[in-house]
Amino acid sequence: MHLNQVRAKKFLGQHFLTDETIAERIASSLTGSTPNLLEIGPGMGVLTKYLVNDKRYRFKTIELDNESVEYLHQHYSDLDVIEGDFLRLDLGQLFDGEKFSIIGNFPYNISSQILFRVFEHRDMVPEVVGMFQKEVAERIAEGPGSKTYGILSVLLSAFYDIEYLFTVHEHVFNPPPKVKSAVIRLTRNGVQRLDCDEKLFVQVVKTGFNQRRKTLRNALKPLNIALDNVPEEILAKRAEQLSVQDFVLITNLLAQQL
Ligand code: SAH
Repeated sequence: MHLNQVRAKKFLGQHFLTDETIAERIASSLTGSTPNLLEIGPGMGVLTKYLVNDKRYRFKTIELDNESVEYLHQHYSDLDVIEGDFLRLDLGQLFDGEKFSIIGNFPYNISSQILFRVFEHRDMVPEVVGMFQKEVAERIAEGPGSKTYGILSVLLSAFYDIEYLFTVHEHVFNPPPKVKSAVIRLTRNGVQRLDCDEKLFVQVVKTGFNQRRKTLRNALKPLNIALDNVPEEILAKRAEQLSVQDFVLITNLLAQQL
């Protein structure tokens, strides 16, 4: 391999799963809420194997690494492989505008970006089953009060039910990552719209967590909106102590000041 290829590979977040039982377990964690299914980063196809022949699915994959793409073409001749970057994929057109679920042992270097895309396309994506770094999985799955609760936990749990399914040890990967992994499932809840200005909601959540050690009174200052309407007991809290409903309430109180 050339040196610049080695360098390029560094950014692919490649940790190939070597334990077939875990691959099978991930595949069977899908509830099958839509027939359309996208796998992000199939790599050498360890998980793909358990999906490609499942007649319930209309199945596509997207893989950035051209060597993996070549391997997949050789070993799974019927597989629909898009060679490219998931973060640039036009999700609106992927399944002719139909909803689709997402599955994968994701490239960990872009896990947050994948999840932000899911949030942005929440009305297109009814279900996600995926492997993340354990710490990221916990952050998404945990509720207010926990140390790792953050922006994505709030945004995603506003629209998804999130379940922590199981932990995966580093030795079942090649090469082993430095951290443990975990599989989580996100299932779209019944909420169509939040009871507030959603754009402002996202801004409030992001700003609140930006300086997460500060109380909201200080953390929300960069919004440049008067906080007079917000009760004292809320302003004395930190973002990590607040539920989705608390953020909706704050958003509505701030909207009155605009
Ligand atoms: N699913 C395989 C590989 C996991 S490693 C397994 O479990 O063994 C993550 C995979 O995502 C790698 O194959 C990597 O090449 C691919 N990848 C990295 N960045 C990507 C991106 N932006 N879009 C699509 N695939 C990506």
